[in-house]
Amino acid sequence: MCGIAGVFEAEGATGLVASILFAIQHRGQESCGAAARDAGGRIVGHKGMGLVKQVLDEEVQNRLAGTTAIGHVRYPTAGCSDVVNAQPHLIELAEGPVMAISSNGDLINYGEIRTRLEREGVVFKSDNDAELIGRLIAMYHVRDGLTIESAIAQVQVELKGAFSTVLMYRDRLYAFRDPHGFRPFVMGHLNHEGEGEPPSEGTVFSSESCGFGIIGARLLREVRPGEILRLERGQPLLSVGHAPLEPRHCVFELIYFSRPDSSHFGENVYQTRQRIGACMAAKDETIHNGDDLVVMPVPDSSNFIAHGYAKAKGAEFGMGLLRNHYVGRTFIKPTQASRDEGVKQKFNPLPDFFPGKRVVLIDDSIVRGTSLRKLVRMVRSAGAREIHVRIGSPKVIGPCFYGIDTPTREELIANRMSEAEICAYLGADSLRWLEVADFEGLLPGRRQDFCTACFDLDYIYPPEGFATKTNAPSLREFQPAL
Ligand code: SF4
Repeated sequence: MCGIAGVFEAEGATGLVASILFAIQHRGQESCGAAARDAGGRIVGHKGMGLVKQVLDEEVQNRLAGTTAIGHVRYPTAGCSDVVNAQPHLIELAEGPVMAISSNGDLINYGEIRTRLEREGVVFKSDNDAELIGRLIAMYHVRDGLTIESAIAQVQVELKGAFSTVLMYRDRLYAFRDPHGFRPFVMGHLNHEGEGEPPSEGTVFSSESCGFGIIGARLLREVRPGEILRLERGQPLLSVGHAPLEPRHCVFELIYFSRPDSSHFGENVYQTRQRIGACMAAKDETIHNGDDLVVMPVPDSSNFIAHGYAKAKGAEFGMGLLRNHYVGRTFIKPTQASRDEGVKQKFNPLPDFFPGKRVVLIDDSIVRGTSLRKLVRMVRSAGAREIHVRIGSPKVIGPCFYGIDTPTREELIANRMSEAEICAYLGADSLRWLEVADFEGLLPGRRQDFCTACFDLDYIYPPEGFATKTNAPSLREFQPAL
């Protein structure tokens, strides 16, 4: 996962980009960077390993002076964990560094296109999808004489996968998105109050709308799937291309990844999560309300799912686990060892909260199951009488190829154990998931507009030879169990 930001023609653009990136830091904590156009028209950049507050400090913001800037926070889903893969990437053309790019999402045909470009003599500095997108656009522009917008349109057709992208070229800024709209991408404005497309000046972009509150910008709308936006000084913001294919918005953004105060696909994320919780409660006849019942989230990503569940049951909603916010998301830690250590550091049970209680413990998903197992043990040792685990997503049975770092099929616990085995492995009294069929009516918009491939293997671009919904072998093939 990653997050992107862009600001066109506003005082202190790099500082504004840093603020947006800070608000979307949950999307990536490994590295970050920014690039700005200086007074001479050259694009200068800075990137480093670490958090936004550390890497894009005041000194860097002063050095990257300019009124247009882009930025990126990275979690490595493809390519190694090294600063060369941090973004933005600066692309040198004959006249110097006049292009910079940041993108969120993974490409399925990265290898094939990179091989093709290398045969043409293109030299890469990283293993990163965004650099490939930038170099492909530069090649069509320089070698074939296409305008930048035509080059982007060409690239949108050729690339398979997810890319929400901001690109600075000379004094312009472009924002474009893959034709399926996998990853979220929104546009706002610092001072435009009216209807219709705003002036280019003051336009801002972010992976999530929670990035706008922090800079006082107003959410205008999504960058549409397949759309290309051009921003030019003195010009209205222009939609210069729009070639959508069937939408495939990532459903996992709604369940887990996005901040609950963001708005995606026409609805606030927290509302979708509450609805998921309510749906689970309505179907959960085995749990009866009582004085000893408490519904409790694994904080923070499951808070609103648990809240929806508790409200629908008329049960007590309790925050029995305290989360240390100075530990990052365990899911996006790169290794199992760092994830294990993260769980211990991250959660602590409230003293005297659990003895004698029946606990409905709500989590957003089970991937490997190792973190949840530790939490169940923690709650049991704190005195809970019963622990009923409820999961706000269906079983994760396939990896993501579009920008979320879920593991291989072999590592996913739902592919290795039966439901009863997983329940026993977790040490829970009962275990239930949301069903894929439940998505109907729960999502903002039409069910078919969402990608649910990691839950049902319905991949629109499966890598060659990969088992999909139609040719998947039995889920039990990965025995023996952990
Ligand atoms: S495979 Fe899963 S995580 Fe990836 S885009 Fe689809 S729904 Fe999202």
